[in-house]
Amino acid sequence: MTTWRHELHANPEFGFEEHRTAAFVASKLREFGLDEVAEGIGGTGVVGTLKRGTGNRAVALRADMDALRILEDTNLSYQSKKPGLMHACGHDGHTTMLLGAAKLLAAEGGFDGTVRFVFQPAEEWGKGALAMLADGLMERFPFDEIYGLHNAAGMPVGQLQAGIGAVTSAEDNFEITLKGVGGHSSRPQSGREVMVAVGSLICSLQTIVSRRLRPNETAVVSITEVITDGTRNVLPGQARILGDVRSFVPEVSLEIEKHMLEIAKGTAQTYGLSAELSYLREFVPVVNDAALVDEMLAAAGSVLGTDKVQLSTVPGTGSEDFARFLEHVPGVFARIGNGDSASAHNPKFDFDDGGLLHGANVHAAITRRRLAAQL
Ligand SMILES: [Zn+2]
Ligand SMILES: [Zn+2]
Repeated sequence: MTTWRHELHANPEFGFEEHRTAAFVASKLREFGLDEVAEGIGGTGVVGTLKRGTGNRAVALRADMDALRILEDTNLSYQSKKPGLMHACGHDGHTTMLLGAAKLLAAEGGFDGTVRFVFQPAEEWGKGALAMLADGLMERFPFDEIYGLHNAAGMPVGQLQAGIGAVTSAEDNFEITLKGVGGHSSRPQSGREVMVAVGSLICSLQTIVSRRLRPNETAVVSITEVITDGTRNVLPGQARILGDVRSFVPEVSLEIEKHMLEIAKGTAQTYGLSAELSYLREFVPVVNDAALVDEMLAAAGSVLGTDKVQLSTVPGTGSEDFARFLEHVPGVFARIGNGDSASAHNPKFDFDDGGLLHGANVHAAITRRRLAAQL
C-alpha cells in the first residue's frame, strides 16, 4: 500500500484530470479480481463492484482522487513530479486505503452482498460527486448506504472519530455588485461613487451572524475580495464584493442569503446606488446518520481498539462533497488520524503511511458488519 501511495503522490492530477490515477485504480481493481470495474463515471470516476453470497443489500465505500494547485515543499523522495500540483489533502492516501480494502475484501470475503468501491474525481471543486451522480451512479451501481474516510492532521495515527448530524459545513459563494457613477476624486458630489458604500456594506454584512441569526446557530460570513474600477485619483462607479459563507443547516444558508440581499439593497439605496446579488451554493453539509455512526464506531473499534474510536461533538467548518451522496442514501463520513502532520492544504502536508492499513481495515470492517452473512 505504501508503494501505491508514493506512486500516486508523485503523480498528482487536478480535478477531472485524474486520467493516470483512474487508470492506476482500475488496473489494481482488475488485478484484485473484482466482478466489475467501470471507468469514466462522471468524467474520471471509477466504480468497482464485488459480490459475495446471495445477499441483496449493497454498501458503497468512497475515496477521492484529486490533487490541489499547490507547490509542494516537502523534499520527500516521492515528492510531486509536477511543480505546482500536489496531493496536499491526502487524497492519495484515501485512494490507497480504499484500494487496500478492495484487495482485502476480494481475497478474504467475509460479507454477504455487494460492495461498490467508488473512486470520485474533483472533490476539491465540490463537483466530482455530483458529476458521478449525474452520470447515473445510483441507477447503474445502486447501493443502500455509503461510508467515507478523511485523514485528520493532529489526531494520532490509528484513531478514528465520527460525529452525528452535520459534521462539515455548507459553503456558499456570493458576489454583490454595486453600481453608481464614478468621477474625479476631488469632486465626489458630481457622481455617485461606490467606495464609501463598500466600506459600510462590509461592516453591515458582519451583523448577519451577530444580529440576525439566533445565538445558537453557527455560521461564518467572510468578505474575501473587493474589485473596483477606481484608481488613485478616480472614484469608482462600480464595485464587486465577493465572499464565502459557511453554515450547517440549509435554513440558515437561506436566511443568510435573504439578509444579505436586504442589506445590499438597503445600503445601495442609502448611497444612491443599485445593488445586485448572486448567491451560489457550492457545498452542502455532510450529515451523518446517527444509527450508522454507532455502527461505524463499533466496526472501527473492532479493528483499531475500542479506546481508539470516539464520537466527535464539534463539527468542522471545512466542506466535503461526500455530502452529495448522503442526499441519496444514509451513511457516515469519519475522520482518521494522520498524526503530527502539517495541516491539509499546506505545502508541507503529507499523508502518514502508518494510517493506510488502519483505513483499509476500517473500510473492510464496516462492510462486513453491515453485510453480515445470514446464519
Ligand atoms: Zn482538501
Ligand atoms: Zn480532502
